[in-house]
Amino acid sequence: MIPFGSLERYEGNEALFQIVMMSIVSSYSGEPLHLHAEGLRGTGKTTIMRAARDIMPRIKRIKDCIYNCDPRQPHCPEHRHMNQTEIAALGTEEIPMPFLEISHSAKVGTVAGSIDLAKLTDVSQPEAHLLPGIIPQAHRGIIFIDEINRLADTSPEITDILLDVMGNKPGHLQIEEAGLPAVDIQVSVSVWAASNPDEDPGPLEEVRRQLSDRFDLLCYMGRPDSVEILADILKENSYMNRMNQAGIKDDSRGKYQQQHYQQELINWAEQYQQFPMPDFLRSYIARLYLKHNLESIRAIEAIQQAALLYAVMQGRKEVLINDVNRVIPLALKHRVDADTLLRVINETNSRGSREGILSFKNRQKDSTDKSDYFQHTARPIKDMHRGELVNTEKTLTL
Ligand SMILES: [Zn+2]
Repeated sequence: MIPFGSLERYEGNEALFQIVMMSIVSSYSGEPLHLHAEGLRGTGKTTIMRAARDIMPRIKRIKDCIYNCDPRQPHCPEHRHMNQTEIAALGTEEIPMPFLEISHSAKVGTVAGSIDLAKLTDVSQPEAHLLPGIIPQAHRGIIFIDEINRLADTSPEITDILLDVMGNKPGHLQIEEAGLPAVDIQVSVSVWAASNPDEDPGPLEEVRRQLSDRFDLLCYMGRPDSVEILADILKENSYMNRMNQAGIKDDSRGKYQQQHYQQELINWAEQYQQFPMPDFLRSYIARLYLKHNLESIRAIEAIQQAALLYAVMQGRKEVLINDVNRVIPLALKHRVDADTLLRVINETNSRGSREGILSFKNRQKDSTDKSDYFQHTARPIKDMHRGELVNTEKTLTL
């Protein structure tokens, strides 16, 4: 696998690199940021997301705790009742931030967890004998799901688990076993998903709107569209190059690059934890919600969280209105119709945002009637003065 730092970047995928790092910074700070990358096959969505595993910073946990208990705030059934002295006696260890994947063949027990019936001696305390599934083991890290639209269509039980886990920050997970009381456990994981809206069963927001809304940001991946970029991708993916990469994976340059990323992400996380949102910008976001009748409070919460993260990563001392405008399309694209989105973007003056973030041209939906949008921004030709329509020799030479 090509290291994260060596992957080809171009306008159509730049936003995904950015939000992947934003999500790592946020998750490291204890606040999940859920991402959904949409795009055609071959745009590298899953490659970028999986390669990010390389740059995950390390986290400290209670020694051997498979739930990744933070020694400062233990949450698992085994450690949550212990005091600081007892925790200290157990010791700590550092592990890479978890990055686990849910496959389409996964069962509920594997994803959420189950109760270890073999070890169960005291039925009144089943939680002491849990076998945690993929999600609780990814606590403080990332869960990745490819083809989320298909999963939402075929696995309603796993979709329901995701809805709970992504419902709040941190989320909740219920582990159930027939005949035993359900065990509720807190989980703080960022869910990253990828899908191709042009393939069956269609865009996630049409398959399961509620799940689509749980994703804070949606990034539509554009295709590489220049000969230079495509040639670079071919070079990067050539057999010879991959063999060389495999050989130098542990070389000092690769290691240096990886450590550089990890350190930078940790620095950003420290700043993010102290970074305030100015009141006037908070009101600005709130006004968008009211004025455009946005259905989801999650949308404006995502705008706030993403704008702060973006500003921190741009090295700013404070959030600017442009940082807010920049993330608006990512937070709204899957939550409002195309006309509303265009109206909001037009109003917030972020039309200068890169095509890579907006990428309307690749979505079938967006080729629909835009007459409503134009009514708000243009006047019919019949209402214009002749002077506005025709440049005479006089106006041109002035
Ligand atoms: Zn624990």
